[in-house]
Amino acid sequence: METASASGLDPGLYIVAGPIGNLADLSPRAADILRRADVVAVEDTRVSARLLRHAGSDRPMVPYHDHSSDALRARLIERMAGESVALLSDAGTPLISDPGYKLVRDARVAGRQVTTLPGPSAAIAALTLSGLPTDRFLFMGFLPAKAKARGDTLAEIAGLRASLIFYESGPRLSDSLAAMAQGLGDRDAAVCREISKTFEETVTGTLSALSDRYADAPPKGEIVVIVGPPGQAPVASAEDADAALREALTRLSVSKAAGEVAKKLGLDRRTLYDRATELKE
Ligand code: SAM
Repeated sequence: METASASGLDPGLYIVAGPIGNLADLSPRAADILRRADVVAVEDTRVSARLLRHAGSDRPMVPYHDHSSDALRARLIERMAGESVALLSDAGTPLISDPGYKLVRDARVAGRQVTTLPGPSAAIAALTLSGLPTDRFLFMGFLPAKAKARGDTLAEIAGLRASLIFYESGPRLSDSLAAMAQGLGDRDAAVCREISKTFEETVTGTLSALSDRYADAPPKGEIVVIVGPPGQAPVASAEDADAALREALTRLSVSKAAGEVAKKLGLDRRTLYDRATELKE
């Protein structure tokens, strides 16, 4: 049976989400784990040293990447039998465009306890800022750098009725937005930059307009692009509504005409009823 390690934590793997720019976003529970874990597996010891200092942790670090050797991963899995191992990435949630998937996979295969300390992720933070639909979304991470692979990836997802989330960098931004406009259609999008930091900014527009905006002025800092779903029908104009109501009134009562047009054009039934009454008179 597993017993608590010297730290008082149950042995196993603790996935610790860190801030994406603002240290104050580290949760008290995450900080507690960082102070008590027997060892903290990190991407970059220099980057994580700063967060550990902020959390008041003096725990030892060990570098870990998913391309670390199988032997190193096996040693960490072995340690989890009697010790608590925290996994931390340079920013945000581990495993999200960051190392950790293989460690969690192998920890589960070995029957180790796996606990997550949920927290910030740039993908979700950007989605909430974008003003684009949030009911269905697909996280795409970084698009391939080569034009052919990028085009193939975009073609694969062009038909999905979902908002799309991409991680990007400033120098690639304009080209990537242009490729998205070509591969996905000129959809609504949002460029979210430096979330939770001093120069946080969200700019919205069509993919082509955003590509033009950044063509001569690649932005600095960290970037997430959110792209809206395809084929959002434009909101019907008052003229469209009148034309549809006039036609429906030749066949139906005011009430039924308003109901039919409301459904067809996605407009408010009560407003259409009032307008249909006026038109009838
Ligand atoms: N694991 C991280 C997470 O949960 O968001 C993502 C790590 S990935 C290697 C780094 C990328 O995330 C950056 O290149 C950028 O696209 C995005 N990113 C991270 N922090 C960000 C921030 N504060 N504002 C905007 N994008 C950010």
